[in-house]
Amino acid sequence: MTKEMICVSCPLGCMLSVELNDKNEVISVSGNTCKRGEQYAVDECTNPVRMLTSTMKVEGGKLPVIPVKTSKPIPKGKMFECMEIINSVSVDAPVKMGEVLISNICDTGVDIVATNEM
Ligand code: SF4
Repeated sequence: MTKEMICVSCPLGCMLSVELNDKNEVISVSGNTCKRGEQYAVDECTNPVRMLTSTMKVEGGKLPVIPVKTSKPIPKGKMFECMEIINSVSVDAPVKMGEVLISNICDTGVDIVATNEM
C-alpha cells in the first residue's frame, strides 16, 4: 500500500510517498529532500504525535480561562482523552507563564503548561 503525505517539518512541504507492507510497516519513503522527511513519514505511520493547544478554566483571574499547551507532542490517539481532563479541572490565579498546570497528562509523560500569565 502507498500512502501520500506532506512533510510539515519545514516550510518546503515536500510531498512524501510511503510504501507500507500488509503489517503497516514502512518499507520505503520517497519524495523527501532530507532525512527529517523520512523520519516524519515513519513517525506519522507508526506513532503520529501532535502538540495540543487549548484553554483551561481559572478561578480568581482577570479572565475565566488561560491558554495552555502540551510541553511536548502527544500521541494523536490521546488528544480527546487529554482534552476531557483539561476541560474537567480549573486552576487558581495567579498563574505564571510556563507553569505546569497538569503533570504527566494521561500517562504520556507530558505536562500541560500555561502559555500566558494570569
Ligand atoms: S523532507 Fe526535509 S526539506 Fe522536505 S519538507 Fe520535510 S524537512 Fe523540509
